[in-house]
Amino acid sequence: MFDTAIAGSLPKPAWLAETRKLWPQWRSEGADLAQAKLDATLLWIKTQEDAGLSVIGDGEQSRQHFVHGFLEQVEGIDFAHKVEMGIRNDRYKAMVPQVVAPLKLKGRVHAAEARLLRAHTTRRIKFTLPGPMTIVDTVADRHYGDRVQMAFAFAELLNQEALALQADGVDVIQFDEPAFNVYMADAAAWGVQALERAAQGLGAGNASSGRACKTAVHICYGYGIPANVDWKKTLGQEWRQYEQIFPALAASSIDQVSLECIHSHVPPELMALLAGKDVMVGVIDVASDVVETPEEVADTIGRALQFVPRERLIACTNCGLAPMSRAVAEAKLAALAQGAALAARRLDGA
Ligand SMILES: [Zn+2]
Repeated sequence: MFDTAIAGSLPKPAWLAETRKLWPQWRSEGADLAQAKLDATLLWIKTQEDAGLSVIGDGEQSRQHFVHGFLEQVEGIDFAHKVEMGIRNDRYKAMVPQVVAPLKLKGRVHAAEARLLRAHTTRRIKFTLPGPMTIVDTVADRHYGDRVQMAFAFAELLNQEALALQADGVDVIQFDEPAFNVYMADAAAWGVQALERAAQGLGAGNASSGRACKTAVHICYGYGIPANVDWKKTLGQEWRQYEQIFPALAASSIDQVSLECIHSHVPPELMALLAGKDVMVGVIDVASDVVETPEEVADTIGRALQFVPRERLIACTNCGLAPMSRAVAEAKLAALAQGAALAARRLDGA
């Protein structure tokens, strides 16, 4: 059997937040909102288990956006005065908070949802955090004046939360670094190092299970929003961004790498650059509402198996499913699990 997991986010139910939006408004506040977030997390734990996934996530139900959910617990950031900034090399504009003072964690960031996740499934659990390079690409700097220095400051804070998540019983801690695909030279020069700083000390075995916590990085071409779909059209016939980053990752201490595969123009042979790593192969397209058939998923896994050993392949989604409809996301989770099972049966000749 192949392990199966989602990249990270899942749609929020309509009673929790606005639907089909990347930066949705919450439907309630205070204690009601805190409870609603946990209720939605519980709902998705059950849905992922029913679909048959082997690694379960919180679906990022407790954060408005995958970067800002972490930033809300960081001191030194002014959320009251957001400014418009072009992010991902000016691919799209976003209203971002400003770093105005030295950075410090206010306390735990994701304790509630991580503990809920651990308490309600016996399967392995994965937790996602934004990577340092992607964070510095999603905030305005009015304090550090140096991108690298600020990235390492964030990496230290991420490390504190990651170590605490490991102690909560999390089995895989994944850092999301879509910025790696935009600033490839910087990623190789210092991005991977900042990532390793964020992951420092993980893998020693977690408190509740004694199992070693794995580290992962997710590098994608973004959510299926129009700005990203248009950007992908400019990248040409072959998307070779990974080629510049994978050698640095292969030489790093990170255990797993998540990449886009299905319906992307990534040459599959680039996966061979990740020798020695677990590879989370994207076999579910998040930019299309068309639900993959198990056969399509199994075919994609088959193509990846030419470059990734069977025991190192984890079937995954290309990216998060947050902006999709719940019904489509649920159907795609089922296709993921069924397709991975079919791929295993094909290999075993059953
Ligand atoms: Zn992604």
